[in-house]
Amino acid sequence: MYYPMFFDTTYILVLIGVIICMIASAKMNSTFSRYSRVRSRSGMTGREAAERILFQAGIRDVRVEHISGNLTDHYDPRNKTLRLSDATYHSDSVAAVGVAAHECGHAIQHETGYIPLAVRGSLVPIANFGSSIAWPLIIIGLIMNSNMSALLLNLGILAFSFAVLFQIITLPVEFNASGRALKILGNSGILYEDEVRDTRKVLTAAALTYVAGAASAILQLLRIVLLANRRND
Ligand SMILES: [Zn+2]
Repeated sequence: MYYPMFFDTTYILVLIGVIICMIASAKMNSTFSRYSRVRSRSGMTGREAAERILFQAGIRDVRVEHISGNLTDHYDPRNKTLRLSDATYHSDSVAAVGVAAHECGHAIQHETGYIPLAVRGSLVPIANFGSSIAWPLIIIGLIMNSNMSALLLNLGILAFSFAVLFQIITLPVEFNASGRALKILGNSGILYEDEVRDTRKVLTAAALTYVAGAASAILQLLRIVLLANRRND
């Protein structure tokens, strides 16, 4: 009888992923809190900056709303709503304006039919389904002692791959939204050049949390492949 060990040597890959994510998240929080104390000279709040950017981009059907929570800012393409959190909506810091502009970047991606955003959107249900059935399949595949187990393991790996793919396609979407945001902020006069530099630091730190998330997902996939190979030997 084969008993899978879930705290075996391959578990170190999961731990490395967790550590990478923790470092990226700490860096993001410290960078955001540092630049949320630097007020923009225009005095514009996150909400005002978002409304100005959307207006200048010719987008009239996106609503800007307030959402509670910490760093919960996002653009929802389903109902064309841009939601800004406490630290962004009312704040006139360079960090707040940067995050607001980044979310506008997503709204502009949506408006202009930016392909990776559409691909990412269509992957959401598949990635959610994949990540919910991956572990049950893998665990049954590892425990079961029959010729079906290799099939279940492969299906589990395939299911998990969709979740990983989602994390990877998120990267160009996030980098592109920040690229658009920085360009707009520099050109529109919402921020001065030195303020754009500060904002770039905030958005880069935010982007690194997505890189860490993708790296951690890849490490978990690698671990599953190693466990499956060991089982098949
Ligand atoms: Zn984003």
